[in-house]
Amino acid sequence: NPLARAKYLLAAHNAKQLPADGGFEVAFAGRSNAGKSTALNAICHQNALARVSKTPGRTQQLVFFDIPPHTDKYLVDLPGYGYAKVPKDLQAHWQAFIDQYFRTREALKGLVVVMDIRHPLKEYDRQMLGYAVSRGLPAHAILTKADKLGRGAQGNAMLAVRKEMQAEYRDAVSVQVFSGESKQGVEEARKVIGGWLEL
Ligand code: GDP
Repeated sequence: NPLARAKYLLAAHNAKQLPADGGFEVAFAGRSNAGKSTALNAICHQNALARVSKTPGRTQQLVFFDIPPHTDKYLVDLPGYGYAKVPKDLQAHWQAFIDQYFRTREALKGLVVVMDIRHPLKEYDRQMLGYAVSRGLPAHAILTKADKLGRGAQGNAMLAVRKEMQAEYRDAVSVQVFSGESKQGVEEARKVIGGWLEL
């Protein structure tokens, strides 16, 4: 699993701080508490990788992890959403930054949206999916915390999200069930991400 080598590189809070554009990167989005950090850690087979994204002050930054020995392949942890205490002008800055990042970043090869399987496709999730697909990028929806549901309910939730994604975006968005707790779906996620990064 090449993603096991992922390590923190830098955090960018404006376009000038981004690493040189031109390689391969996959962005991770998710509402706060959806389970994004846990999913990232599970996918990279690490315990604390994504902890760095949660330190105060980082919640408005794009956090880059590189994947040695590659110097141009990154996982990018996008700021979670739903931190109510962020001041309004910072929210506007973040919105503009993320918007520009999605519109212009050549290295961006795909978007992973992590959602709680019990509460999928909230407004933020749809906005992120829209950003990616309107750029012609593929997106992958990870329905996490599947361990909180029985098998039948997991399947139903996945089919409902798949159906809606198909109707809205045709085949641009793939969907899977996941659990950071039981590690269900970890291999499937690695395959999608590894494929986009050409690992
Ligand atoms: P983030 O804010 O999206 O990064 O969410 P975290 O990864 O920090 O998870 C938020 C909460 O959900 C924490 O209490 C986690 O322990 C819990 N959690 C995350 N993933 C899972 C999962 O797959 N199953 C269960 N049962 N709980 C999870």
